[in-house]
Amino acid sequence: MIKKKTYVIVGLGLIGGSLAAAISKRIPNASVIGVSRSSQKISFAKKKRFIDEGFTDFKSAVPSADYIFICTPVDTIPKLVSEIDRYAKPGTIVTDVGSTKSEIVKSVERKEMKHIQFIGSHPLAGSHLTGVRHARPDLFDRAFVFVTPSKNTSAKAVRDISLFWRKLNTSVKIMSPEVHDQLVSEISHLPHATAALLMHAVSSKALSYATSGFLDTTRVAQGDPRLWAPIFLTNRMNLAKNLNTLEQALAQLSRLVRQGKAKPLVRFLKEASAKRSKLA
Ligand code: NAP
Repeated sequence: MIKKKTYVIVGLGLIGGSLAAAISKRIPNASVIGVSRSSQKISFAKKKRFIDEGFTDFKSAVPSADYIFICTPVDTIPKLVSEIDRYAKPGTIVTDVGSTKSEIVKSVERKEMKHIQFIGSHPLAGSHLTGVRHARPDLFDRAFVFVTPSKNTSAKAVRDISLFWRKLNTSVKIMSPEVHDQLVSEISHLPHATAALLMHAVSSKALSYATSGFLDTTRVAQGDPRLWAPIFLTNRMNLAKNLNTLEQALAQLSRLVRQGKAKPLVRFLKEASAKRSKLA
């Protein structure tokens, strides 16, 4: 018989709700507890059978937890980890799902944790939509999950949290918080910044005729700024460097367009097309 484990999800939004739903669906004998500041979200998550129980205050939920997942905006995570440590039982594994990792891990490690073991995670799954109403149990299916131990993380915590994510049908990649932040800056934060820039660059008159190409390119610009501003700010050095690279590429393209010669422009576009075609 599999021993019953208790999973506490703090923050019932898109990722927290989906995580609760995925655990309830995929992990047998799991007790899933949701913590939300909103009793309506708790009722909704209970009705959808994402969670077994819910609390508006994490102090009631944390003491029984084997695993705790913090699913709130990145700038709120370090403080929550410290507070949770006061109420958790010894050995509780605490992770987060934040889109940046270095600042969170450094900030947590600056304080001595008395009860918990913290290890950062980041599931590379989601959407521009937010809130528990958009949560779904299959959100993480076949997604990459970055697990980001530091030199102080125990091998057991890495093993346990990796095993957990694999149970949700994900592909786990282990790397340092610093490497994580460099990579996601290029494949997630820079594209988000670019989509936002495009929205600023286009006139309202032209927008009324926007169709699939424009909509595909700018979908992520709809993301919640209350989530995205802290993501940009906690990864600002990497993002600033990548924006600089983008500026250089933009200057090159601008030169080619002004020159008006087809051959170098075709070469530039062909290179981009070939690179993109290798992806799904
Ligand atoms: P979301 O749907 O807006 O949910 C965030 C939840 O955090 C809210 O439902 C709220 O939970 C809680 N929260 C908001 N502000 C808070 C505050 N000031 N203090 C404490 N709790 C607060 O956003 P999400 O997309 O699930 O994002 C959650 C985390 O996942 C973020 O760290 C984000 O970087 C990361 N992430 C997002 C994606 C994505 O594509 N969306 C992908 C991977 C990782 P309650 O109202 O229930 O308390």
